[in-house]
Amino acid sequence: MNKQNIYFDNASSTPLRQEVIEVLTRSFSTFGNPNSPHFFGRESKSLMEQARKNIAKKLNISSAEIIFCSGATEANNLIIQGAVKSLNITRIISSPIEHQSVIEPIIFLEKEKNINVNWLKIDKNGNISLTELEEILSKFSSERILVSLMHINNEIGTILPIKEVSEICKKYKAYFHSDMVQSMGKYPIDLQDINLDFATASGHKFYGLKGAGFCFIKKQIPMQKIIFGGEQEKGLRAGTESLHNIISLEKAFIQTIENQEFEKKYIEELKQYFISEIKKQIPNIAFNAQSDSPKSAYNIINIGLENQKKSDTILIFLELKGIAVSKGSACQSGSVKPSRVLTEILNEEELKRANLRISFSIFNKKQEIDYFIEALKEFIK
Ligand code: PMP
Repeated sequence: MNKQNIYFDNASSTPLRQEVIEVLTRSFSTFGNPNSPHFFGRESKSLMEQARKNIAKKLNISSAEIIFCSGATEANNLIIQGAVKSLNITRIISSPIEHQSVIEPIIFLEKEKNINVNWLKIDKNGNISLTELEEILSKFSSERILVSLMHINNEIGTILPIKEVSEICKKYKAYFHSDMVQSMGKYPIDLQDINLDFATASGHKFYGLKGAGFCFIKKQIPMQKIIFGGEQEKGLRAGTESLHNIISLEKAFIQTIENQEFEKKYIEELKQYFISEIKKQIPNIAFNAQSDSPKSAYNIINIGLENQKKSDTILIFLELKGIAVSKGSACQSGSVKPSRVLTEILNEEELKRANLRISFSIFNKKQEIDYFIEALKEFIK
């Protein structure tokens, strides 16, 4: 086996599309500050507003509902902290398997602003109980509540029944925010139809640049800023907009949506191939959160190698073979602790085994899967 250069960590970041690189390169010649009234500024502003319009159109919302920012960490903070500040929220309902950029602001608000918090129970497959959600909403129906639940879990691929959740939230007049980082661009999404209040997205999960993202904030919602210093982005996100990031974000988003059907099918086939080959060739493989089921995200799989109590050694072994996978979210990878998400769904014994997240993109090939499985076989031999 010759050493390769295989990237199976696309849930943490994707490579750029060629079209994004091209548009980005061209955008460098437009340098005016989009807020300057002269023609250099107006040129930048017009490109930025066109990008906003094009993204909004694909999501069936109005362009005034898109706020550009530096990515989903900022977007989640802006929405969660901004909603508490602006909407007299007294209670937040969320889940323990959200991304850190949702969990940490909630813990901060609980400690500093005395916000009540309910963390929903999660089953073995990473699902919340809609009954529990409804019970809590009904019990505290006199309060102003924000529900924050991610659409697709970045580590185990569990998909939230987002429309049902939004209907429950509407029934109890609760605000609903969804971190849609792992689904935006990759699934058909109509934000009018889902009827949520807030959503967040990040460009580098759909073949765009890191440091570029957006929030959706429903038009009628009177949000206040949490970042001070300028009136950009309807006064909600002070700071000169990064035109290059915005232009490349738009290109990545539109391309991903326009190729969605074909690319989804391609990646689905890769995942199916991976599942059938690994089941054939490696005994006792576990699929965490039923990530081998069609109910799971089509690009993410989380496996456990039974009897392999060497989670960290396996990553080093694979690295030496030229294969990049992960054991959880990249945002937590500095931590020696097991993945927080897996800790919520696995028992002590299951946590000790080598658990790996493999996530595919349009740039992966079946031969890379063959190579990966050969490497795993060599490791467990
Ligand atoms: N939410 C989810 C579900 C994610 O996967 C990530 C990226 N790991 C983020 C939020 C944060 O996004 P960004 O890197 O744009 O800050």
